[in-house]
Amino acid sequence: MRQNHYHADMISVEDAREKILEHFVTLDSKSVHILDSMGLVVSESIKSPLNIPPFNNSAMDGYAVISEDTKLASSDHVVNLKILETIKAGSVPSEKVIKGTASRIMTGAPIPEGADSIVPFEDTTELDWNINSDKSFVGIKYPGNVGANFRESGKDLSIGDVVVENFSILTPSLIGLLASVGLEQVKVIRPPVVSILSTGDELVEPGLSIEPGQIFDSNTYSIYSSVLQLGAIPKIIGIARDNRQSVIDMIEKSLNSDFVISSAGVSKGDYDVVKDVMGEMGNLNFWSVNMRPAKPLAFGKLKTHKSFVPIIGLPGNPVSSLVAFEQFCRPAIRKMMGKTINDRKIIRAKLVDSIENYDSRRVYARVIVESKNGVNVATTTGDQGSNILTSMAKANGLAICPENIERVLPGEEVDVILLDDSVDLS
Ligand code: AMP
Ligand code: MG
Repeated sequence: MRQNHYHADMISVEDAREKILEHFVTLDSKSVHILDSMGLVVSESIKSPLNIPPFNNSAMDGYAVISEDTKLASSDHVVNLKILETIKAGSVPSEKVIKGTASRIMTGAPIPEGADSIVPFEDTTELDWNINSDKSFVGIKYPGNVGANFRESGKDLSIGDVVVENFSILTPSLIGLLASVGLEQVKVIRPPVVSILSTGDELVEPGLSIEPGQIFDSNTYSIYSSVLQLGAIPKIIGIARDNRQSVIDMIEKSLNSDFVISSAGVSKGDYDVVKDVMGEMGNLNFWSVNMRPAKPLAFGKLKTHKSFVPIIGLPGNPVSSLVAFEQFCRPAIRKMMGKTINDRKIIRAKLVDSIENYDSRRVYARVIVESKNGVNVATTTGDQGSNILTSMAKANGLAICPENIERVLPGEEVDVILLDDSVDLS
């Protein structure tokens, strides 16, 4: 493998990411309804205001008894106990269980005073009853041990126990736990509102019809979905045309957000008006990042009446915009949300075909990675053109061919960034 040349005019992916991320901070916190908190980062340590379970309750449908009463019980010599009452879930017992008595009790119902064991219906004569049976007594067939089927108050959580640690990411079970202690609001790092705009005279909204020379805008939709997947709040601004006024209008509409992501108009052949206007409305840097796809990238800050909003200008080609989103927007959004900037798993995999790197950039090749006979194997998804969105849609990973490697050959190992959290490879 030949060492390729270093590009003095380009910045590395890491440099670009670092220059971008230093302008992003973790957002402020706010209280949200727990139904709106999934996946967000908690910004307080939450203590339980009550015991869970709040009262001793039964784990079975059966009889609340005094275990001592039942210790000699057997199926041949049942112990008969007088039935005091039936306690259902949601009610409270009215009688104390005393020697020689028992109360019928349902799962989740409060255990009456005096009882120390619950004997399930299956271990009593109740299941043998017919219409003529005397239902004022029940026969216990097996001894009930102390504490059997007895769910003790505070066993799950006691008052003052930490229910959710500060900085936890809320999951379905943590949200259930908050609800179980009666909390409806939770303080979280608020998710950013991310404005999305596309630029180009050729773009048409899906749902309309296209004329010769036009194409449908796909970046708005793929970026919107990527933002949504991160748990942030995407806001579609629209399509800016390649003229001054249109760009000004669209940018003004996006200033009331936490972050702006635009696509197209950042490569060399573009109408200068897009760059110029964005530059006038704040400061915008245009970089050539040493990567393929997605070499051109813009980053800047748009002035608002209060302060500024960071903007990333992604390249226009549909694959480039997604690969650049992955490298630059994803970590920025995660940082704003108080999360680790990178959670992607990188695995080693054997390449089935080759990756060419003819101009010494870092190549992110779209691959399907899978485990075959215990070996991770990566196969490219076909044409790697930056406009070929189908090959991105098929991929579950991006295989990396480093800057200084001219080509990776079949059978050689590469790093693969897993794009799909559900892929079970290591
Ligand atoms: P540009 O950076 O404006 O030169 O755009 C590069 C390529 O990406 C051109 O072929 C554009 O037509 C295409 N492109 C730009 N924006 C979008 C978009 N929102 N959806 C799909 N393709 C786009
Ligand atoms: Mg364009």
